[in-house]
Amino acid sequence: MGTGQAGAALGLHGGCGTLDRSLMSEAEWAESRSHIAQALRAGWAVLTAGGAALDAVQATVLVLEDSPHFNAGHGAALTEAGTHELDASIMDGSTLAAGAVAGVTRVRNPVLAARAVLESGKAVLLIGPAADEFARASGLAMVKPDYFTTQRRIDALASLRQRALDGSTARASEAEKHGTVGAVARDRHGHLAASTSTGGFNNKPVGRVGDSPIIGAGTYARDGVCAVSCTGQGEVFIRTAAAHDVMARMLYGRESLEQASRTLVFETLQSHGIGAGMIVLGAEGDPLAPFNTLGMYRGWIGTDGRMFVATHQEVHAMGAVS
Ligand code: ASP
Repeated sequence: MGTGQAGAALGLHGGCGTLDRSLMSEAEWAESRSHIAQALRAGWAVLTAGGAALDAVQATVLVLEDSPHFNAGHGAALTEAGTHELDASIMDGSTLAAGAVAGVTRVRNPVLAARAVLESGKAVLLIGPAADEFARASGLAMVKPDYFTTQRRIDALASLRQRALDGSTARASEAEKHGTVGAVARDRHGHLAASTSTGGFNNKPVGRVGDSPIIGAGTYARDGVCAVSCTGQGEVFIRTAAAHDVMARMLYGRESLEQASRTLVFETLQSHGIGAGMIVLGAEGDPLAPFNTLGMYRGWIGTDGRMFVATHQEVHAMGAVS
């Protein structure tokens, strides 16, 4: 399946709901890029120390959850009731072990709750107050729900409510609507892992669960094939089993990582009229980040140890990471 190099590699996305350039100052863009670089360094430190891909994706997503620039953890989207309901998942490609939480409101880092579910081995997906209680009992940091709120999400909710009243919802920008964070990694032993975390859609119905915590929809990893983390309107990713479909096209259809991921983004998902993107990584080679929107926050460190960070079309080379 290709002739690329094996060895450690790491990739992330910060959602395909990237803002139009003019809507943030250059200082804010620089800060969002620096948080992407920080997240990559956190995951890469795990991989260069000989650590597991599973730990690397967790470390990467954790930094993005703590950044206000991305729709996950601090900075998460608001429901139509003005509340937060967060979803996250994590999957180990070497065992197909997975953990996820949906509709949590209190655990500071949903990715850590997803990992705790995976480690428990008792469930793949826990929801709502029981998931928060499980996180608390697992010793994870808990916060008041307003910890997750930022002015940008309050403004996005107000604008989407207004659009619902004047019938212009279809014209809302991707950035007003959504975002998500995710990571894929391959460790020195060739194991793959993927993780995704989100606040979901702005103005989403209370109780709505997207694709991010659904294994096979927003997240999938299988050693020897690929690791996938998705972003875009979750309902379509669930209906097309998008992350698993990338894997299945490669495993059963013998497609390359590039063919499989581009087919999903530019044909399957695009045919439903949605903005879509994903970060994907195969058994060898570097991560790929196809998206069909204006921009997608993304970054990766390839097998040569060089870091790249991007928000829109141009890609910033950040040099070698030690
Ligand atoms: N996939 C996320 C959801 O539907 C949103 C996004 O990625 O923008 O909850």
